[in-house]
Amino acid sequence: MAKKKPCKVGENKSQVVRDMPNVCSDEDAAVRFMEAQRWGDEPCCPRCGDMNVYQVGDRKTGGRNTDYRWRCRACKRYFTVRTGSVMAETRIPLRYWCYAFWQVCSSKKGVSAKQIHRQTGLSYKSALFLLHRIRFALADMEGVKLMGTVEVDELYLGGRPRYRIPYDPLKRPHRPKHPRKQPIIGVLSRDSGTVKTRVIPDVTSHTLRRAVSELVDKSAKLETDEAPAYVGIGRQYAGHQAVKHSNYEYVREGVTTNTIESFFAILRRGITGIYHNVSRKHLQRYLDEFEFRYNTRALEDGERTVTAIQGAVGKRLLYRQPNPA
Ligand SMILES: [Zn+2]
Repeated sequence: MAKKKPCKVGENKSQVVRDMPNVCSDEDAAVRFMEAQRWGDEPCCPRCGDMNVYQVGDRKTGGRNTDYRWRCRACKRYFTVRTGSVMAETRIPLRYWCYAFWQVCSSKKGVSAKQIHRQTGLSYKSALFLLHRIRFALADMEGVKLMGTVEVDELYLGGRPRYRIPYDPLKRPHRPKHPRKQPIIGVLSRDSGTVKTRVIPDVTSHTLRRAVSELVDKSAKLETDEAPAYVGIGRQYAGHQAVKHSNYEYVREGVTTNTIESFFAILRRGITGIYHNVSRKHLQRYLDEFEFRYNTRALEDGERTVTAIQGAVGKRLLYRQPNPA
């Protein structure tokens, strides 16, 4: 048997993960970390893009200004690393932002506002606000449609458990199958390994068709379960095959919806186990968070944190659009 290579403690951690404890406890380090993630070695003005900028000094100490301002020589305006990002217009210290970004990106099923509140000392309300803005930063704004082999399935979250009443079509023909549950639709490209989700009002074929056409390119080959709504949708795509779950058929010649269902399993456990109760209004934000973690699953925790922080830039203007966090 081959001997396992001895590994020093913490050897497989990236530099970012090693830096994190310091960054999350020291405001000065947090600001420097955020600046490095945003600008690298070349800070530039977020308003006019000019690179002729300087750090504003402090007259008393001769060091750096306590609010970490920069000034642009071209447009004469002041800015900080927060300007033009989801962190703008808040007074929450940056070390807490760093901590929350790190926690969100390194916990498989997310982190609750209560936990951030306990660990940082921020109020619960501030912690909730901070996490909502982070979810907003994680949201995929590019809207690139999925291609290749795409699994499509829907999921019901929350509500009361399903009753084991025998279904009698004569007595209650229109009894909803899942009373008070919130449906969502998920699509996953097996070629790129990318998942996308949408909160949907119902599961009529009209709604499903619209959601699928927003998320999936027409050149894709769909794979679904046997739900009748997908038959008509499938005709508009390059191909469509279904597995019949009612016959205990889950894989047939490579046709399956198991991959999207394994994403749903993580999502369901996160919503139940970490968040407990998510309102319909905010559900899409939580979905964005799980989507981001799934789509960056090949990255290591530190890289994922950096990707998330970079996603926070340039999103501030969009923040006040419909469906705000
Ligand atoms: Zn400028």
